[in-house]
Amino acid sequence: MMYVVDVGPASCSQQLVFVLKEMGIDVIDYVFLTHIHTDHAGGLARLLSAYPQAMVVCLDQTVDHLVDSSCVMEANRRVMGVVAERYGQLLPVPREKVIPHSQWKENTIKIIETPGHAPHHLSFLHDRALFVGEAAGMYQAIPSGMEYHRPATPPRFFFDEALSSVEKLLELGDFIICYAHYGMLPSSRNALITFKEQLLHWREIAYQVRNTNKWNDMAEFNDPDSVTS
Ligand SMILES: [Zn+2]
Repeated sequence: MMYVVDVGPASCSQQLVFVLKEMGIDVIDYVFLTHIHTDHAGGLARLLSAYPQAMVVCLDQTVDHLVDSSCVMEANRRVMGVVAERYGQLLPVPREKVIPHSQWKENTIKIIETPGHAPHHLSFLHDRALFVGEAAGMYQAIPSGMEYHRPATPPRFFFDEALSSVEKLLELGDFIICYAHYGMLPSSRNALITFKEQLLHWREIAYQVRNTNKWNDMAEFNDPDSVTS
């Protein structure tokens, strides 16, 4: 079985297909989507045209948004403005290509519901690798040898759900953790504990900002209509 977790934005999808072919991958069985933000799912249509036998597994509630992606693009434009255009279009995919996650029965991959970064977000455990999308924030190795962790908090961010998702991932055990942004670390336990500390730290800072008049300057970030899928 050949799996892909997240496909990146449409603007990079040609390069993704090129690299996969360079790796000698001629068949992809399943594409798993952590969530349908365009930097994770945007390249889906092109990947499916290069690998027409592949099926897509996504969270039940997001199936309709893959089949009719217009509301995702609209939400993206509202939240990200010109940056949304740089990601490219999330093109619709045929409904018959999509498997709602509740119908996934194979035990080769365990699906974990991990909302928070987005209201609809999944993580995947395969063998010793835990694919967390953005449920564990963003990670980047810094050339000095230090590590950079930060919460990924697009509006709206669902704090309590994100924290619960971290606890759920911690309960699974200790695995190699694979980030969507960027790379891998050997211990999901260590990475998730660091992320949890970051989440709580950022919330404390947000509370402090709220108690100053800077909060009014940030009003656009509190717009409940600024919702991404
Ligand atoms: Zn996202």
